[in-house]
Amino acid sequence: MGPSLFGVTSTSPEPPRTRTYAVRTYGCQMNEHDSERIAGLLEADGLVAAASESEADVIVLNTCCIRENADNKLYGALGHLKALKAERPDVQVAVGGCLAQKDRDLIQQRAAHVDVVFGTHNVQRAAELLAEARQHGPVIEILEETARDDAEAFPSALPARRDADHSAWVTIQVGCDNSCAFCIVPAVRGPEISRPFGELVAEVEGLAADGVTEVTLLGQNVNSYGRDLTTRLRTIDAGPADAYEAGADWAADDRRRLRPLFADLLTAVGDVGGIRRVRYTSPHPKDLRPETVAAMAQSPAVCEHLHLPLQSGSDRVLGAMHRGYTAERYLERLAAARAGIDDLAVSTDIIVGFPGETEDDFERTLEVVAEAEYDSAYAFVFSPRPGTEAAERQDEFVDHAVCVERFERLQAVLRRSSRRRHEARVGRIEEVLVEGPAKRGPDQVTGRTRQNKPVHLPAAEGLRTGAYAEVRITAAGGHYLFGELLEVTAAPAHRRRIPVASA
Ligand code: SF4
Repeated sequence: MGPSLFGVTSTSPEPPRTRTYAVRTYGCQMNEHDSERIAGLLEADGLVAAASESEADVIVLNTCCIRENADNKLYGALGHLKALKAERPDVQVAVGGCLAQKDRDLIQQRAAHVDVVFGTHNVQRAAELLAEARQHGPVIEILEETARDDAEAFPSALPARRDADHSAWVTIQVGCDNSCAFCIVPAVRGPEISRPFGELVAEVEGLAADGVTEVTLLGQNVNSYGRDLTTRLRTIDAGPADAYEAGADWAADDRRRLRPLFADLLTAVGDVGGIRRVRYTSPHPKDLRPETVAAMAQSPAVCEHLHLPLQSGSDRVLGAMHRGYTAERYLERLAAARAGIDDLAVSTDIIVGFPGETEDDFERTLEVVAEAEYDSAYAFVFSPRPGTEAAERQDEFVDHAVCVERFERLQAVLRRSSRRRHEARVGRIEEVLVEGPAKRGPDQVTGRTRQNKPVHLPAAEGLRTGAYAEVRITAAGGHYLFGELLEVTAAPAHRRRIPVASA
């Protein structure tokens, strides 16, 4: 009831209700990072995060076609949302990401209640497209490629709604120039485009000023970062913009070095004041150069962890996958990395049952895995991704029961090496970055060592999210370590939650 005026009771208008959103993410870190940006764009547009998806006014499904059964999962989710939309017709449903890029019009043909479909090259348009759909009805906007000159086409150049205040992802490139037979990324994300060197360093400086202490550089093939920039710059006369595009070291060299820029970028980002940890994912074994190993060894901030996807230990299968290395070459590069970087932890990805994989091929994989002594691994049974070369090789698909049996044998070898490597850390003193309360119970916190190993330890004063601590490792499990606090060495640097940040 509003105030009365001259004895007349009037009713004040209800304040407009703040609209809410939810973003559901399927897939890899690149997609999670895109989702942070979608959330940031929606918040910049005045929306706030909904308490639950069923209460949201805008629901965005950020899809990934790398994962198994991606389309079944998407269309299943859209089926549930149809019922929600029947109850609350004002709810807007948007589908973005790789599967949207690939399926395009098909999504609305199969789910007419979808308001917006957008792809991987126009994430920056999410809020505008939703506004357009509210006014004029459903919108499908899929672009064929990322515009090199459009800074906003890179997810890191957009507003962000980060989940953690102390840690941030930084996209250094989009797309991929490789053609792995099992992978849909080149088709849906396009060719590699690197962000200018100066822009990346400035972004990390901005994050550090906000109290971020850990950054993870993201790309489909991070260690070929800059190849497109330097190729382009070599064909033109040197100019002042080159240092911004490709870094001062590269631009200062008259011969315009052939070396890739990723090593320079690691060093420059590691030198930013306040940044204590630099990680990156994913590198390609064929592009792991000595300069990168040297930069990892020499930059104190770059963590001693390398994710080096093997995929298969059989040269025949690696050739069929178009991976560009042999098992021997892979092991040589791994040995060089281990020789160059003290106390390096290594993780990998392995596909079991790639089309045409024989028992002999698989045994080669077991041999390489045993020799590589991984700290951890993501092993998958091959499943065809529509639109890829491997999906066409149906006559060579390996029987599912055989795949499962091979997968179990592989897991046994992987478990042995990861347990050995975890047990070797018992008794050591490790620096742990606290990530938050442990799922195991409120009396524990979880953190991560520089080698990317999760550590559970009893909660204690000062062990707040974002703090650094010296921890003695007391026991080891297959996937994690246990520890006891010796000393909190640094309090969290972030001063406040950062709901929206612009590059
Ligand atoms: S390197 Fe291969 S697996 Fe990685 S994104 Fe490119 S095509 Fe896909």
